[in-house]
Amino acid sequence: MVYLDYASTTPIRKEVLEAYEKVLHTYFANADSLHQEGRKVNMLLEQSRANIAQLFHVQAEELLFTSCASESNNYALKGFAFANQNRGRHIIVSAVEHSSIMSSAKQLEEVFGFEITYLPLRADGRVHVEDVAKALRKDTILVSCMLVNNETGCINPITAIADYVHEHSRAVVHCDMVQALGKMELPLSSVDMATFSAHKIFGLKGSALLFHKKHLRLLPLISAGQQEWGLRGGTSNAPVEIVLAKTIRLALQEQEAHIHHVTQLNQYVRKELSKIKDIEINSPPEALPFILNFSCLSIGSEIMLNALDAKGICVSAQSTCNSKGKAISHVLLAMGKDELRATHAVRLSFSHLTTKEEIVFFLQALKEIIEEYATR
Ligand code: PLP
Repeated sequence: MVYLDYASTTPIRKEVLEAYEKVLHTYFANADSLHQEGRKVNMLLEQSRANIAQLFHVQAEELLFTSCASESNNYALKGFAFANQNRGRHIIVSAVEHSSIMSSAKQLEEVFGFEITYLPLRADGRVHVEDVAKALRKDTILVSCMLVNNETGCINPITAIADYVHEHSRAVVHCDMVQALGKMELPLSSVDMATFSAHKIFGLKGSALLFHKKHLRLLPLISAGQQEWGLRGGTSNAPVEIVLAKTIRLALQEQEAHIHHVTQLNQYVRKELSKIKDIEINSPPEALPFILNFSCLSIGSEIMLNALDAKGICVSAQSTCNSKGKAISHVLLAMGKDELRATHAVRLSFSHLTTKEEIVFFLQALKEIIEEYATR
């Protein structure tokens, strides 16, 4: 099997799994129990939060443990909107956010009467500050824009966007940094809220974070006990939260080496793809090298995915969360690519585990598939 779908999810690291198994067996007590076993678990959990805070240069109480980035994004949009609607009911999101942002925005609009403005993409696949400036209003309370697009790897100018918003309004800025963590420097100090997920960085599924600046008010979305300062009730998933610090530390420690490895692979794939007839590369050269999107104009996304799958190669067409919908990439359409490109797209995503041999195998398989379909 050749796995080229690391933007969807990653396998768990050995070190993380070992730590998890140990914690799961040894520290099973409820972190809120008052006995010494409970206190020990709580201490480890808070130590993990403090370690992550140190790695991110933020304060521990600014980190909310959640179960997935989708949940963090729900908190950032709905939790924030519900708690701050007295200040305004206008929200800006980019038109190509993850489905957890898009669905939250839609729900806020259709069920709760908020007004949403969707920011366009320019041909370079990025949101531009000028478009944020145009959308910003006196009653805007929140701007949400991802750092790295999960289909194309395009990197948005978050610091410039956040600086503009802060200078010209009272709105706060949320940034989905899921596809950026461990892959580039994070502009965390520029934003007010940010989302991360462990399973994209060789950590556990069911483990994620929302960074939210201390002064921000959020409405609890799970009303229950005192856990997570009453923002998210329910018995803490302490073992998962305890190993998140190690997961993030390892990802950051190895970031430079991973970027170097993946950049080389990406350049090689680009060079080879550009030699194949009918292939158009959709990710601009300045996109994050971990994601490479292309269209094969003679074969639709679904057929291509199935053909690659039959040869033991795992890739995606678009975001995995939309994979059961019609195979058209809204991100490519928003970049101004035509419908043919958007219905024939393939997303490759790499990691430090990807080898040159795997890439050569993939390229050979791709050429065979194109040839087979051309002679049908
Ligand atoms: N945001 C982005 C940009 C993503 O790529 C993903 C995962 O596909 C998510 C959010 C959701 O992550 P999770 O699976 O942790 O909910």
